[in-house]
Amino acid sequence: MTATRTRLVLGNWKMHGNLADNTKLLNALLAAPRAATTTQMGVCVPFPYLAQTALALSGSSIAWGAQDISVHAQGAYTGEVSGGMLKDFSCHYVLVGHSERRAMHAESDQLVSDKARAALTAGLTPVVCVGESLAERDAGQAVSVITRQLAPVLALGSEAVLKMVIAYEPVWAIGTGRTATPEQAQEVHAAIRAALKGAGAEQVQILYGGSVKAANAASLFAMPDIDGALVGGASLVAEDFLAIAA
Ligand code: PGA
Repeated sequence: MTATRTRLVLGNWKMHGNLADNTKLLNALLAAPRAATTTQMGVCVPFPYLAQTALALSGSSIAWGAQDISVHAQGAYTGEVSGGMLKDFSCHYVLVGHSERRAMHAESDQLVSDKARAALTAGLTPVVCVGESLAERDAGQAVSVITRQLAPVLALGSEAVLKMVIAYEPVWAIGTGRTATPEQAQEVHAAIRAALKGAGAEQVQILYGGSVKAANAASLFAMPDIDGALVGGASLVAEDFLAIAA
């Protein structure tokens, strides 16, 4: 990571948690002394726990956000949650295009871009997730797949892109315990930064995600274009998450 970008470590709780466990986890994060680090920290929680999270973290240095957003501002969209609603709970971040949503909810590259735009319109920071499958990597298509996924997002224009965070999460590394090597991740991160082009590409935070843990975080963060992590499993254990964000 270069000196111009602040490191960001974001937790993605996925569909985990309950009121009692969340309280313990959030309190443990709050109790940890963080004066020695400039790393930004945040948690993306399930919708029902946004109020609890906002109440707990309000006034702290830890940000929070959601894991999905509707492309619509309001209306007859049963089950959807708008950017305005997320703003009501002071969300800072919202994940868009996580591979689990792309795979299980057939989210297209264009829909992901529409969600990123909806987030920006609401004043939220979209964390745009991209990543190739194992078959795509084995076929030597990692960079071309990511370029394709990013194209509609980049079409929103450089002013929009500068307000986003990008997360590279190879699908084969998510929840598998199999992390990309720092070199594999750096290669894709550099390609992403090159694709961002234009003024300010150097300022965009590009996170790595996929089985990040305390044991491998430092070597990933040592790479010039890796600006932090999107952390799933390890974000549910306070000491593990804090060690990654130390
Ligand atoms: P993992 O998940 O850290 O459990 O691999 C990362 C993610 O899906 O964001």
